[in-house]
Amino acid sequence: MAAYVTKQRRILQSFLEDHPDESLSAADIAKGLTDQSISVSAVYRNLAALEEEGKVRRVSRSGGREIYYQYTDTESCRSHLHLLCKSCGATYHMDKADADQLMQSLYNHEKFALDTVDTVLYGTCEACQIRERMKNKHEKA
Ligand SMILES: [Zn+2]
Ligand SMILES: [Zn+2]
Repeated sequence: MAAYVTKQRRILQSFLEDHPDESLSAADIAKGLTDQSISVSAVYRNLAALEEEGKVRRVSRSGGREIYYQYTDTESCRSHLHLLCKSCGATYHMDKADADQLMQSLYNHEKFALDTVDTVLYGTCEACQIRERMKNKHEKA
């Protein structure tokens, strides 16, 4: 039994490792793993376990109640900040120097020590900004 669970976890984890820049819902993940004989309930169970260990984190997108998961179990992901596009769900790994600078200035001005592991900055990615601008232009014309 334990070996079976471990195998499902390995499958899930390697799937997440293959999608480091996306936030995925449990349904997306289950769909991506249809060939791997891993049930949706096993996906949920293993995601919960990975979340508890700090290897994945939950994120949300604007306007939706669905929960998405983001894989952050790499050494470098622990020390920089992540940006999440609220429109398309893309994840950006902030340059470490930029993140350090931001955190330093936050600390200098607010005496606030930001926790990089738990922090996600929400916003709109460049592609979505362009798409949004095109849409607006189109509607005005
Ligand atoms: Zn990262
Ligand atoms: Zn986007």
